[in-house]
Amino acid sequence: MQKFNPEVAMWRVRREFGEHGGVTPSISRSSTFTVMDPGIMPEIFHGLRGPEKGGCFLYSRHFNPTTHVLARYLAAMEDTEFAVCTASGMSAIACTLLQICRSGNHIVSSNTVYGGTHALLGELMPEMGITTTFVDPADISAFEKAITPATRVIYTEAVGNPTLKIADIRALSKLAHQHKLVLVVDNTFTPMIISPARLGADIVVHSITKFINGASDLIAGAICASKDFIYKLMDLNNGRVMLLGPTMDPRIAFDIIQRLPHLPIRMREHSTRTMAIARHLENLGVPVSYPGLLSHPQHDLIQSMFNEGYGFGGVLTIDCKKKEKAEKLMAFLQNRERFGLIAVSLGYYDTLMSCSGSSTSSEIAPEDQDKIGISPGLLRISIGYTGSLEDRIQQIEMAVKTVDII
Ligand SMILES: *Cc1c(COP(=O)(O)O)cnc(C)c1O
Repeated sequence: MQKFNPEVAMWRVRREFGEHGGVTPSISRSSTFTVMDPGIMPEIFHGLRGPEKGGCFLYSRHFNPTTHVLARYLAAMEDTEFAVCTASGMSAIACTLLQICRSGNHIVSSNTVYGGTHALLGELMPEMGITTTFVDPADISAFEKAITPATRVIYTEAVGNPTLKIADIRALSKLAHQHKLVLVVDNTFTPMIISPARLGADIVVHSITKFINGASDLIAGAICASKDFIYKLMDLNNGRVMLLGPTMDPRIAFDIIQRLPHLPIRMREHSTRTMAIARHLENLGVPVSYPGLLSHPQHDLIQSMFNEGYGFGGVLTIDCKKKEKAEKLMAFLQNRERFGLIAVSLGYYDTLMSCSGSSTSSEIAPEDQDKIGISPGLLRISIGYTGSLEDRIQQIEMAVKTVDII
């Protein structure tokens, strides 16, 4: 297979000029759109017209010109035919799964997924008659064993949150397609770095809130898939995005479009700094996990999947074993060293730190957390790129020594 460069793909997208020839796209703030010929209206309602089918807009919960510009860039980045933007990562995930699954259907999912996704699959969807079996993402045979005649979807994160376990997307794709299932991959942790669709995923979902936007000032998501699937989601009679209505505002889309040009630069810098800090911590004897380290059990696997030149991502974990110790380390790093901020989320320009077991993964029961490798003291750190790297390394060395992590 030919090497894929998401940067090249993104900047080959047809350029959208603003009104009056603006170098930035215009923000189309209109809920509804004029149809020049009344005969076109029924065609839109029958799904025969749309931005990819003759450039026709109807109503902004359907397609909007500005959010559509963003969708085209994201589809190019993920090398899918088409994409739709949503109001959050959770709505992208929920609409995708509800579009494919009916009551009585079943999903096989990685057990180390984002806490909200775990709650959606484990608590909310069973109330609608859609059940999920959770398995270890590093064990392909566990996925296979869990498949039943009712299964419709295999779901995983490319890099699992917060355990940083890597999914073998090629193997999962093969398995899914043998059983006529759809492989859905959440690529929130690794935009640019991993291209799941190139490795055989059918649908790629994103929380744009994190790295893609990169400024921690808005909530947004996207679904990247075939034209056929996106048109199903937008169907006026039963499309899940169209009828459940998690619409992205065009002003939000514009903000994100303005940050896409430096996404590759940011991802490289996140990766470079996370790698340097992870290596330094490992040399000090700190129990650190990062896919870029040779000691990561799936280092070779991620290297066999990633796009050259963007590194291994911006998230590392330190296992402090006990919650109190993790909290002490975070407090020291924030309040004494000004190394980063104690906050959930990731992909920000500043470093964000949280203790996953009692925050973003608290939806997962403590005994299950233990099983999947989330210790009460597992500290997740999303490494930012503010300040000098040398200074950051000194700060974290001081912190781990003071708090007795080694
Ligand atoms: C944050 C996150 C989500 C949810 O996205 P929102 O934009 O907060 O709705 C889903 N998956 C992963 C991996 C995440 O980190």
